[in-house]
Amino acid sequence: MLDSHIHLARLPQAAEVCLALKSLGYEAISVACAPWEWAANEKLIPIMGSSMTPTFGLHPFEIGNAPEDWGAQISMYLTKYPKAWVGECGIDKRFPGYEKGGFQEAVFERQAKIAFAYARPLVIHCLGDYRRIFGILENADYPKETSPILLHRFGGDMETVRRGVRMGALFSIHADSIQKKSTREALREVPQHLLRYETDADESFVLRNFGTKKASPSKIAQRIVEELASITL
Ligand SMILES: [Zn+2]
Repeated sequence: MLDSHIHLARLPQAAEVCLALKSLGYEAISVACAPWEWAANEKLIPIMGSSMTPTFGLHPFEIGNAPEDWGAQISMYLTKYPKAWVGECGIDKRFPGYEKGGFQEAVFERQAKIAFAYARPLVIHCLGDYRRIFGILENADYPKETSPILLHRFGGDMETVRRGVRMGALFSIHADSIQKKSTREALREVPQHLLRYETDADESFVLRNFGTKKASPSKIAQRIVEELASITL
């Protein structure tokens, strides 16, 4: 049972929830996309052990809040944790710097290059044009064998699926991904070994499901596992 995208560090009572998740046989790619979240994610590594693959990256929404040395900080985490991935990073039309040639592209490209240099997979967030993401990766000599990409909360169409498959991308499916008919149909073309399933759970998931952040850790863990099991193509 692998959750291919969750924000464990953003969950209320994160350490207790992690213990409960681990006892249920749950494994996760635990994503951190801002400096405060990197530090919080790191604290969960000893609790989750081999059940957790941590990631460290800068989300397009967080660029404005990042310290100048953000790239060096991400590299430091990668050196410290040889299993860590890079991300989530990418482009998002809702936030500043999305325009073609805008700063979101440069920040994404820099993280792609860090991932490639360290031979780590790259978790990609794309709310907008996937072709721009693919173009940047190809310009940066995307090495698909050593740094495969994971397309988080995948929401693309058939063209995107076909190009992604050629690039050896992992398609991470969220409950929302299969709401859109064109995405659902396109995903049927993806070979099984490239499919992943994710909850993208964070504090808002808990609030939505329980009406409060004060739900018991075991109930939160159970709800996450149920959500993950409910996603099918
Ligand atoms: Zn996320």
